This record gives sequence, C-alpha cells and structure tokens, in this order.
Amino acid sequence: MLYGLARRRSFHNAVPLGAISVAAYLREAGHQVQVIDAPALDIDERGICAEVNRFVPDAIGISATSVLWHSAARVARMLKERFAAPIFVGGPHPSTYPEHCLEEPAVDIAVFGEGEETAVELINRLEGNETLDGVAGVAWKDGETVHTNKDRIAQRKLDDAPLPAYDLLDLSCYSAPPMRVRQTPAVYMELFRGCAYAKCSYCTSAGSLKNRFRRHSPEVAADKVVALNHKYGAREIAFVDDDFVVGKDWIYDFCSELRRRKSPVSWTCYVRASQVDASIFHAMKSAGCHQVLMGMEVLDNDILRQLTKDLTVASCGEAVRAAHKAGVWVIGLFMVGVPGTNPQSVWNTVEHALSQEVDVAVFSLYRPPPGSPAFEALGWGPEEYIESFKLQKQAVYTPEDYRSLVEVEETFRAAYRNFYLNPRFIKRAAQKALSDPILAKQVLRGAVTLADQFRPDLQGLLTRR
Ligand code: SF4
Repeated sequence: MLYGLARRRSFHNAVPLGAISVAAYLREAGHQVQVIDAPALDIDERGICAEVNRFVPDAIGISATSVLWHSAARVARMLKERFAAPIFVGGPHPSTYPEHCLEEPAVDIAVFGEGEETAVELINRLEGNETLDGVAGVAWKDGETVHTNKDRIAQRKLDDAPLPAYDLLDLSCYSAPPMRVRQTPAVYMELFRGCAYAKCSYCTSAGSLKNRFRRHSPEVAADKVVALNHKYGAREIAFVDDDFVVGKDWIYDFCSELRRRKSPVSWTCYVRASQVDASIFHAMKSAGCHQVLMGMEVLDNDILRQLTKDLTVASCGEAVRAAHKAGVWVIGLFMVGVPGTNPQSVWNTVEHALSQEVDVAVFSLYRPPPGSPAFEALGWGPEEYIESFKLQKQAVYTPEDYRSLVEVEETFRAAYRNFYLNPRFIKRAAQKALSDPILAKQVLRGAVTLADQFRPDLQGLLTRR
C-alpha cells in the first residue's frame, strides 16, 4: 500500500499524520504497509513508480486535498497503467466529494470521513475478494454503477489507537514551521478528533466534516508524547488539533501528567481565545508549552459575529495578555478578504494586533474550503474551486468593498508589511531576541521563512511603506 503522495513541496515538510495513522491501523490488522511521501522524499512521478515497484502492493491508497486533486488523479492514472492493484483515495477531497473522485476512471474507491477503521475493513474485504457492500465510509464502482455507502462513525477509543507509524517515514525529512520550533527534532502530533466548537462559518468542522469530537485521556496523551520522545527522539511537538483547550480539567490534568513524567518535550498548540486564561497558560508553560496559535481572523466585533466566532476584540486582547503573563508567545492568525470587510478592516486588524502585542502575525486569504458553510454559500462545485487554484489566483473571493481580486491580494501583502515593518514590532522582537538566544534563533528562522515565501515581493516589501 502507498499513501500520502499528492502534496506540494513546502517550506517545511509536515508529517502526513492521516497517512501514518491509517498505516498503523493496517499494520496492527496484519497488513504490510509502505508510506511514500513524495514531497518529503523529493521524488517525482517516476520516483513514485520506482518506489511502488519495489513494494508490489495489493492495493494503493492516495491522499488528496481539493487543491491537489488533479495531481492525485494524474498519479492514479500513471499507477493504473503499470499496476493491477485497486486504487483508493482518501483525505479532504474524497471526504467532501467522493462521487467526484470516482469520475476519474483510474480511481476505484473513495474513502470519506475518518479513514482508519474504514481502511482496515476495506483492505480485509479486498484481500478476501469480497464485495464492498456495507463498508461504511466508502463510495465504490461496480462496473458502471457508483455506490455510496453510509457514513462511518468511528468506534475505537483514541486511547486504544496505536501510535501513528512514524517509523515508516524518514523523520529527518520533516519539521514544523520554523517559528513554532524551539528544539529539534520537531514533529506533528494529533491528540483529538473533531472540534468541540464546530461553528465557524468558513470551516469544514462546521460543515461536511462529521468527525465526532473526542480526545485521548490526559494520562494516555502524556504517555504518547513521552513515547514520541523515547522512540523517535522528538524534542518538540506541534499539536495540530484545532482547539487544544476545551474545558479546564483536561488541560490541567494533561499538563500535570507531563510534569509527572518529567517530559523534556517543548510544544505548541492551537487555542481559542474564549477558552483560555492566565492559570491555564501557567499550567501549559510549566509542562513545556512555549507558544500558542490563536485564530483571531478580523479584529472587528461585527465581522467576528458574522463568522460565528465566540470572540470579541477585547477577549482576544485579554487572552494575549494572559499568555504573556505566563511567558507564552502568541501567533495570531488573521484573514484578509472576508465578506463584509474592506482594506480599512485589515489596517484596523493590524493596528489591534500591534497594540495587543501579538508576537507573530500570520495572514491568510479568505478561502473557505469545500464542505464549509461559507463555501456552500458561494454556490461552487469542486471543479470551480480546483480551477480557481489552477489559474494561480491566490484570492478566490472579492468582497463588495474591494475593487478586484488583485486589490485583495495587494491588501494581503500590505498586511504583512504593515505588521512586520512597524517600529513597535521591530523593537519588541529585538528586545525578546536579546533576552533569549533560542528566541533570537526562532525570530531569525521566522524572518528567513517569511522572506523566502515572499521572495517576489521582497523588493516591494523593503521599498514600499
Ligand atoms: S475554525 Fe477552529 S474553532 Fe472554528 S469550527 Fe473550525 S476547527 Fe473549530
């Protein structure tokens, strides 16, 4: 089996958690599994074929996002020409559009929803030459007929799940974003499924994603963190869970379990500003957390309400102050081009972020993914979404008060300039860097990463203020 190949090479390679989690379940069920992460291995389609040839699989799985669907389909066609094995696809695109995936002749089966338990049942059936009738979470072809089976509700407790098969990867190829890394080696880890809030209008958790919210117990979560350190030498973990603090008890217990095990791992996670306070941040800091990512989107109360966030400008400011009191850095996550906003909303957001002393600001363009309520409101189908990326437009939506997509993109770049070239930011970053040599390295790595990402704009970034 092969999985996790259809991603673009990025400025850092993220461990393909979905693929190695499925691989661990399959291995536990007695199957042999190989994971080929083409971007991390830096191999092209010919290299993928060579890897598959060495393994001679009985089934081939390909992970696919909507943006990279055409690339995944091309790889599927190439493999179909050379191998007799059935090809199944999983991941975000098949989870939202299983039937669209089956329009590709090379794809036999689409897995939707959480893939682990489905993959085990699917591969067992394929191995026994049995029909896929009744396998929850798959759409499949029977000659010309497409069958879409019912959704799967995952049954297994996360505590009982095997540790994802990190050993199937060359971990030296992976890291987390430089600004999130205080120590290396750094890896990604997931302790939750679903989102407890599940209301933000631009998010699949509030739409088609039907993952039930559940999480590891604090004790087993701490055991698995320590296991990552002991087995794979991980010294830094970037938790990918959407919302790491849901209720105080779990986070206090998790932190105290990490302290009890004398965990040497430093970590970062996503939090919602409405769920955190100074005592929570102190507990997290004492257990190795040095940085949190907070989705603040647009610092305007009307827009936050419209996005169905449970936040206000004031609650975001309070959360940042609470984090700083505990010595935890805050990466603020913001969006440009949200419906109902204009460039002035972005300048106001930058001003609030600077005055709230957000340590790092990450701006992204408003691109609600397929399956989110906001995407449904756009009335697009899968091909329109994919096409918008093929045309290499970065922004895909023009709010009424912007003149064009180009203006949205210019505002996006200007948001970075206005934040990072502001004297208040530069002064604070310099002070922090001088007080902490590791932070200095982080700031430097972050600056290099940003400069690299914005290389074409660098000239403008240095000259246009
Ligand atoms: S944006 Fe985050 S908090 Fe909001 S629904 Fe999605 S995962 Fe949950």
